[in-house]
Amino acid sequence: MENNDLSIHGKVLYTGIERCPVCGRETLHVIEILYNDPSFGDLILYSNQCSSCGYRRVDIQYLNSRGPSRIIYEVEDSEDVYRTYIFRSRSARVYSPELGFEINPGPEAEAMITTMEGLLLRVLDVAERMEVLNEDDENARARLMEFKGKIRMALQGGLKFTVIIEDPSGNSAIRPPPGRDGRVRIEALSPAE
Ligand SMILES: [Zn+2]
Repeated sequence: MENNDLSIHGKVLYTGIERCPVCGRETLHVIEILYNDPSFGDLILYSNQCSSCGYRRVDIQYLNSRGPSRIIYEVEDSEDVYRTYIFRSRSARVYSPELGFEINPGPEAEAMITTMEGLLLRVLDVAERMEVLNEDDENARARLMEFKGKIRMALQGGLKFTVIIEDPSGNSAIRPPPGRDGRVRIEALSPAE
């Protein structure tokens, strides 16, 4: 997670230097920050970073986990793009059927707190890297160009789209702009999903 995504201010609960689980040196910088979110209650952000080997781990823990859940939000305009926050835990899948992207959980997945804009910029960044990898494939490049066009339109608030987060741990959330809380839909995720 980049610090420029952190537009919400929290209270530092703990900060210290510990032993790195990867390189074993006493250079692991540990920070725990408590955020009080008016809609979702308290959450703790854990950030571990080793200045020797570069090992990094970020995670989010909700103090009131809502259980396995699917969170659905429809983005309608630029206010939704700029002022909606996404809290994604490491175990969550994030996708948009209309825009056609999907971010999957995995051993290397990181938790993130970002705005909808930040999420779309990440997706655009990945598409740009894919374009470089596919520079000899005309069809793939055409598809990526079309995809990037859609993302750019979405960034300007010119496209309505849905963002869905599925989290078996229940530790993810979407916080819409003030006054729009009623538009967030939360469904229980059955264990089979
Ligand atoms: Zn290390």
